[in-house]
Amino acid sequence: MPDFGFSIQSSQPIDLDKTYRAVYNFVKEKEPSIQRCIYCGACGATCTAANFSQMSLRKVNLLLLRGQIAEVRQLVEHCLLCGKCMLVCPRNVNTRKMILLIHQALKMPLS
Ligand code: SF4
Ligand code: SF4
Repeated sequence: MPDFGFSIQSSQPIDLDKTYRAVYNFVKEKEPSIQRCIYCGACGATCTAANFSQMSLRKVNLLLLRGQIAEVRQLVEHCLLCGKCMLVCPRNVNTRKMILLIHQALKMPLS
């Protein structure tokens, strides 16, 4: 079989009703605009940190919903808090505050 540089992965079903949502809920409570995200990816396309890392706020938002906190931690540590994502977000999500709240939540013992 030719090497296309990617392979088919086994399916990873996620039950959203049973995922760990403490960090998402913490952010949502303090910055409700996170709920307006439509995962369009405009933030990732303009992200300064994306030039040298895997940082993508769209991905962060999805991972938060799925409760994949270890991956969130890895991504947000690259954020420079430059605010470019806020300028392009079509849903007016307060992305900078969102990231600051994620950092805050990751330091707290949430359940
Ligand atoms: S630009 Fe805004 S709406 Fe689009 S993925 Fe980013 S945060 Fe969500
Ligand atoms: S604030 Fe962070 S996520 Fe937003 S564009 Fe800047 S480096 Fe990227």
